[in-house]
Amino acid sequence: MREREPETSHLAHVTRDLEKDFEFTIGMIFASELEAYHKYVAYAIGKGFGVRKSKTRKNDKGEITRWIFVCNCAGPEVRYGCPAFIKFKIENGVHKVMDYVLEHNHEFIPKHQKHLIRCRRMISNTCKGVLVDMAKVGIGGTMAYKFLANEAEGSENLGFILRDCQNFLQSERSNLIEGGDCQKLLNHFHCMQMQNPMFFYA
Ligand SMILES: [Zn+2]
Repeated sequence: MREREPETSHLAHVTRDLEKDFEFTIGMIFASELEAYHKYVAYAIGKGFGVRKSKTRKNDKGEITRWIFVCNCAGPEVRYGCPAFIKFKIENGVHKVMDYVLEHNHEFIPKHQKHLIRCRRMISNTCKGVLVDMAKVGIGGTMAYKFLANEAEGSENLGFILRDCQNFLQSERSNLIEGGDCQKLLNHFHCMQMQNPMFFYA
């Protein structure tokens, strides 16, 4: 069992496995937030629009009970916000489609520009943690990226590019001054080795 599949490679799987004529229906259920979100993102990429997580509603215990994902498309030709959204009701982690609007008030992004869709590239939290810890012990973005790509069995499974990696490290620069924590980094390596017996560290 793969317990901690990187979020980005999960998206790659969902995108690849998406049925050609897939449409959401009321009552459709997803096992987790990640499943629900990635399904909508994969669907959005197929159509040619971006996704943004919007409003949530929480119960007394602070647990999220509603999630709304909205179309992220905006631009000079979109005068009013796009009405497209999907709303999930959450119970014990299970995401159930409650409501949606499938129509958009703008053109979709053409196929050859789909790499520009904002939600498409993102760095998973797991990868972010590794990048930060590597940076703290002086391993730069390029090396770290190669390492993660190798760990994910190819950079195409990572879901982000070297520049995202460098931008992320740039944005984290103030947090990196604290100094290295070798033990934490070794723990990461150890953890990765447990997940992937083919991965060795020296
Ligand atoms: Zn839209």
